[in-house]
Parts: sequence; structure tokens; C-alpha cells
Amino acid sequence: MNERIWFDFGSGPQLHEEDSNDKINAFIDGVQWACEQLGIDDYRQYDEENDVQPAECGNCEWSGIAGDTVQPIPDLEQRIEAGSEVPVGECPSCGALAYLAEAKGAPQQ
Ligand SMILES: [Zn+2]
Repeated sequence: MNERIWFDFGSGPQLHEEDSNDKINAFIDGVQWACEQLGIDDYRQYDEENDVQPAECGNCEWSGIAGDTVQPIPDLEQRIEAGSEVPVGECPSCGALAYLAEAKGAPQQ
């Protein structure tokens, strides 16, 4: 069963059905090209399975998908402590660290 990923850039949301890595890569290249042509700085990444997982900000009320967070996280080494939960990206709303929703509040192992 094919996964479906929503893109929302420039001319609006377009549904993409990913059924091969070549198509996915070609589509991502197309997104990047379109963003360059339109002068849009699109930080979003949808090229990994995790990028379509639900994500939440650890600071504000923002929630979305992991691919909507800012990646890679600037100055990540200085912002997390050893053994703490690894953030998925930076909140696009407030700039704090955002985490996968399912991991948030999960019991420590
Ligand atoms: Zn936030």
C-alpha cells in the first residue's frame, strides 16, 4: 500500500503518491526546484519515514508533522543534555525544540 504525503508550497497542496524511491527523489527535486524558482525558502523535508510522524513543540502549542520542523536543528549540541529525549526538529512557530508526539511523555527506559 502506497503512502501518501501532502505537500503545501507555492501553488497549493498537491497529493503525491509515493510508490518508488526514484519517484520520491524526483518529486523532492521538483519541490526544491519550484521553491528556488519561486524564491521560497522551504526548510521542510519529507524524505524520511519519520518526517510524516506527528510532532509537537516542547514549549508552545504548535503541533504538526516532523517534516514541518526546522532541520537540522541549529546548535543542537548545546541545546540537549546527554540521555535526554532527542528532538525531531526546531518548532517553526517559536523556535524551541520539538519532539515526535508519540515520544513525548513516554516513560524513561
Ligand atoms: Zn513552539
